[in-house]
Amino acid sequence: MRAAVLHTFGDDLAFEEVSLEAPDPDEVVVRTVASGVCHTDRTMQKGANPLPLPLILGHEVSGVVEAVGRNVTYVRPGDHVATCASSFCGTCRWCQRGALQHCENKGRSRPAGRPPRLSLDGTPVEPFVGLGGFAEQLLVHERTLVKLPQEMPLDKAALLGCAGITGLGAVRHAAQVQAGDTVAVIGCGGVGLNAVMGARLVGASRIIAIDRIPAKLDFARRLGATDTIDASRVDAVETVRELTGGGVDHAIEVVGIGPTIEQAFAMLDTMGTATVVGVAHPDLQVQIPAAQLLLEKRIQGTKMGSTRFRLDIPFYCDLYLSGRLDLDALLSRTIDLVDVNLALKDLDAPTGARTVVTF
Ligand SMILES: [Zn+2]
Ligand SMILES: [Zn+2]
Repeated sequence: MRAAVLHTFGDDLAFEEVSLEAPDPDEVVVRTVASGVCHTDRTMQKGANPLPLPLILGHEVSGVVEAVGRNVTYVRPGDHVATCASSFCGTCRWCQRGALQHCENKGRSRPAGRPPRLSLDGTPVEPFVGLGGFAEQLLVHERTLVKLPQEMPLDKAALLGCAGITGLGAVRHAAQVQAGDTVAVIGCGGVGLNAVMGARLVGASRIIAIDRIPAKLDFARRLGATDTIDASRVDAVETVRELTGGGVDHAIEVVGIGPTIEQAFAMLDTMGTATVVGVAHPDLQVQIPAAQLLLEKRIQGTKMGSTRFRLDIPFYCDLYLSGRLDLDALLSRTIDLVDVNLALKDLDAPTGARTVVTF
């Protein structure tokens, strides 16, 4: 099957014929229909977290089940599915606590001794987070998959497996925003825009979108932001304080750098919570004024929106199908796999919401 393969960090992906093994008893072959182009793919392409090469990027995928291993009962051929990097084993201590995002046994690669799932001229090929979505087919563990309603458009469903669950989940599960709360979202890329939609869904009173790119702020307004702040022109913290008469109940930080994490805490009202979604560099340190903790302000992190994706993704599909979640606006364009290199480069100066590769 045809796949876009990364051979050297920083290089373009090369189009290759990759071989797929037959599925093991707990594995599933999926024919790819749509695969979102996420900022994480771009940072991995550049070598931010040197993974084994050659590598197939792409991790928010939807498709149709083609074949299943003999022990698979969850899906059967013909089922429509989406993937999630937050796969789970069901038995480790984190799964038992309901925190699947921290599962210690995600099944991203086969057990030692088994031939690799994918290969190129006899060399093992690594699918990113066990998925590898920039390819015509996936061979994955069944617990990376969630079944979709058959009427759910698969290009829209692909948006849910990473940016959707993370942004919506940050609001619903991590921050637990309540109806009437005020919310600021710092960073309006794919995840931030989903956080804006999540804040609207749960009935936030004020939804303040903050970014440095006006086109992203326009998107945020279409998706439910009540106010927007161009942080390249004004001080975001001061402006939030003016707009809200003190500060917000929730700041959702989706950038992952020191200044914005510190701003998220600084723009909180008394008893407010800053939820950091952005993935920070491992060496990054941040400073917060400790005296503010007396005001019962909190700062917390979340991984993948603390999602339980087999509950969350079908729920978001229902919301989309009933007109309550505007994934149409979020999907800015679809492209062919041959154009994936251009789409990845566009992420260095993004202007739209989400690009999806369709097959
Ligand atoms: Zn587990
Ligand atoms: Zn992603």
